[in-house]
Amino acid sequence: MIVTEIRYFDRKKLTAEIRFYFRVLCVSAVKFFHLAKSPFELVHCRELMSKRPIVVGNWKMHKTALDAVHYVEAITPLLQGVESQIFLAVPFPSITPVAQAARKGGILVGAQNMHDAPEGAFTGEVSGLMLKSAGASFVLLGHSERRALFGESDAFIHRKVLRALQDDLIPILCVGETWEEREEGLTEKVLHRQLSSALAGVALDTPDSAMGSEPRKFQADGRVRYNLMVAYEPVWAIGTGKSATPAMVAEAHAMCRKYAPVPLLYGGSVNGENASQIISQKNVDGVLVGGASLSPQTFAQIAIHCSKKVLS
Ligand code: PEP
Repeated sequence: MIVTEIRYFDRKKLTAEIRFYFRVLCVSAVKFFHLAKSPFELVHCRELMSKRPIVVGNWKMHKTALDAVHYVEAITPLLQGVESQIFLAVPFPSITPVAQAARKGGILVGAQNMHDAPEGAFTGEVSGLMLKSAGASFVLLGHSERRALFGESDAFIHRKVLRALQDDLIPILCVGETWEEREEGLTEKVLHRQLSSALAGVALDTPDSAMGSEPRKFQADGRVRYNLMVAYEPVWAIGTGKSATPAMVAEAHAMCRKYAPVPLLYGGSVNGENASQIISQKNVDGVLVGGASLSPQTFAQIAIHCSKKVLS
């Protein structure tokens, strides 16, 4: 009787173990084949192995593909030995040339926007899969210029976030209040609304692991967690030369951290002079740089300042 029970117990344990290892094997196989699909992604995963400050350049609608390649050639030697992780959000036509030129330097290339549909009759639009196959690793979503100039709603941005995650792109979700909203004391309300609507239903990775992993992380239990970043970009500080004060940055980042426990970037008139002070604020894991990223020298200088921060 006792022997039978022990055998029964062992068999049950063995079955559970076999099932567990089988699942781990399946997940590894899926990951392997998934990664093997794109040479760009192999670079991406290797480069994201450590937790380092993140410096993202947003070129907006600047530079031809040729200018873009010259830029990468100019900045690569300046970034030798710099610890920051460099991301460049470039115009669509520059994604593939920059991805190819940037491979050796470990710079990650991404887009500034995408549509939420996988394909269809959407003249002038680009899907996540198209970006991915062109060499993009990430995509900016909800930038205030998209919200203000192209009427993007919270609901549309939410659908884009879901699609980007599905297509294995790291979304960098941009949020931020207008000056009027700040004056009325609505900053936290706005950030909460933008974050909770964009991230509804998304299982996020923790800040600790998010920076050292691929966009989609399979767990041994079969669940999927997503890697995502948030950029706090007060609308009034973008392209105005008027950056938020360190105290404002720290306060807003603490709010964002409450609602989105993911790597947080600050964006809004970051330059070679203020980068050190901004990156040193609590809960600031990196910066998103517009105008100042257009010069390889200035952008490299910002990356060097940021690399001095040791992220906890
Ligand atoms: C941006 O475009 O995201 C941005 C922060 O721009 P700038 O640095 O020029 O303010």
